[in-house]
Amino acid sequence: MKIRLRTRRDVTLFALAISLLAVLGSLALRGLLQPADVYARTLVSGSAVAAMLAAPIAYYIGLQMLDTQRLTQALEHAVNHDSLTGASTRASFEAQVAQLPSGPKAIMVVDIDHFKTVNDRFGHQAGDSALCQFALRLKRNCREDDIIARFGGEEFVVLLHNVSLADAQAAAERLCAKLREAPIILNGQAHRLTASFGVAPLVNARELDDALAQADAALYRAKSAGRDRVFTSDTKAPPFSEAS
Ligand code: GH3
Ligand code: MG
Ligand code: MG
Repeated sequence: MKIRLRTRRDVTLFALAISLLAVLGSLALRGLLQPADVYARTLVSGSAVAAMLAAPIAYYIGLQMLDTQRLTQALEHAVNHDSLTGASTRASFEAQVAQLPSGPKAIMVVDIDHFKTVNDRFGHQAGDSALCQFALRLKRNCREDDIIARFGGEEFVVLLHNVSLADAQAAAERLCAKLREAPIILNGQAHRLTASFGVAPLVNARELDDALAQADAALYRAKSAGRDRVFTSDTKAPPFSEAS
């Protein structure tokens, strides 16, 4: 059994429970070891001593457990979330996907277009702000249970639940248009940030690597075809590149 103390109230309850156990333990022990008259005479004082000794020690241990619990939570959060954007990390994304039941799902790989120029033009700090604003937009425009991860740099991956490839493509098209239409604000200036999308189906979580490779290949074709667009694993590359 794992005891988790999350609040000071939990610590107080823990200390009370331990103190009660200490009193009951001391009563039982003294009942076995002491003659009946001594036991009766020291019933109250003996119990009070046991409680007075146990309560502060249990409260102190409870506070340490609370600290450990908080530290563990903070560490888990740090391991599972990208510190800049708050999106899931790749490891956490893979762990979450592995838990999903089989069913129609899709993987969307999103890469910001010409992001290097944002850093070059506005500076690295503004680039960081652009990444945060971009991640927030992804979150706002995806469904609550979609899993959004930052795989690195300016590349994000989204897992969409219960969708056909056509549904996922439509969702990506909507997102792509929203990004194109509403500029982000960098150093007080409006800047239009676009992204390219690669979308692939995923039925079985065990095929995640394959789906990611297909979505990556589609993204690569979307970039080659001129960026700011959505390609799926079914989309054929244009006969000649119109890349910008
Ligand atoms: P493309 O349209 O082909 O994707 O071009 P791109 O410029 O977006 O891609 P490229 O891979 O050439 O450059 C990515 C840039 O993203 C380069 C790197 O400095 C920047 N970058 C990666 N991670 C971060 C970050 O955490 N913060 C900031 N500010 N920039 C980052
Ligand atoms: Mg890019
Ligand atoms: Mg990239």
